[in-house]
Amino acid sequence: MFSFFERKDCAESGSEDEDDPSPAQETVTKTISSPVEIAEQFGLDKLEIAKICEKYPAIISSYYLSLIREKGDGIYKQCVPSAEELTDEVGLEDPLHEEPEHQSREGIPALLTHRYPDRVLFRVSNRCAMYCRFCTRKRKVGDPQKQPTDEEINEALEYISRHSELRDVILSGGDPLMLSNDQLEKILSAVFKIINPRNGIIRIGTRIPCVLPQRISPELCKILKKYHPLFINTHFNHPNEITAESRRACALLADAGIPLGCQTVLLRGVNDDPQTMKELMQGLLSMRVRPYYIFQADLVKGTNHFRTRVEKGLEIYKSLRGFTSGLGVPTYVIDSTGGGGKIPAMPKYIEEISEEKVKLKNYEGKSFEYLQAIE
Ligand code: SF4
Repeated sequence: MFSFFERKDCAESGSEDEDDPSPAQETVTKTISSPVEIAEQFGLDKLEIAKICEKYPAIISSYYLSLIREKGDGIYKQCVPSAEELTDEVGLEDPLHEEPEHQSREGIPALLTHRYPDRVLFRVSNRCAMYCRFCTRKRKVGDPQKQPTDEEINEALEYISRHSELRDVILSGGDPLMLSNDQLEKILSAVFKIINPRNGIIRIGTRIPCVLPQRISPELCKILKKYHPLFINTHFNHPNEITAESRRACALLADAGIPLGCQTVLLRGVNDDPQTMKELMQGLLSMRVRPYYIFQADLVKGTNHFRTRVEKGLEIYKSLRGFTSGLGVPTYVIDSTGGGGKIPAMPKYIEEISEEKVKLKNYEGKSFEYLQAIE
């Protein structure tokens, strides 16, 4: 039996290793987290903010806070609690059916979501450097009662080991990079031992390069590069999140040979216009991060005010395809409510398919034909 959590995580200890004087220490310990501090900072009603944070915790790293240019901008909306979180009557607690009791397979351990044939999502932490107000796992992130235990981690590893079809393990959370280097390495090494003989891969889903880039250190990269093929999908939503610090963090990761992708969420009032999204996608490419997905916002309780209509996502996709490098055009997906998985949502580029030809429309709306092969 592995023991993963005998040491505190880096948010609690302020550093990922006692002997690692990482700048994360200073940044995390300066994190604003009490409702009173948040309310005071922005001249908000303290009681109201306290009420929201009782249900949905708030933490804002001092770094991310420094990115706010004005109250109500795209950065502010992502991190500062809003009264609308408590008046949402549409959202669901677990819309993607990630929890074991909502999954169709039997006997899934508490920390796993096993939806697709060959891959599994492994929630190794429920802490983040910033609690995004639109989070899909709003039901649990930041709740100390729901922090994974050694026993749960071991159960998940045993399941992955027993299921030989699993070859792609996605470490997620919360944020896996909120674990100490020591804890993270124990988990990486255990997963690697199981999936490496299967020619498998490890992925890490993390928002750290965006919200606490100081956490990405040469020491961390030295650990990560031992477990190749290892991929990181990070999460940026606004061009103002691309800074000298996030560039430095992504450069360290990319230089460690880690392919970087980005999973952006389409959010009302944050990035729901073509120009903002284009700037973001181009900015990501400029720091060697390949835009991977734009997610339609999920139907999560407490986040209805962030949702846009799907037509908006299609409009944004159309404004990217053909108008900027194809590398900067992610797949626009809707993660289906009820656990059906990610479904690409595409504008209609194929107008008609017949025996002889295909009628197509290009990015400028002009029509073209392609002759079918004769079989
Ligand atoms: S970092 Fe990810 S898991 Fe954490 S609150 Fe933000 S969206 Fe949720």
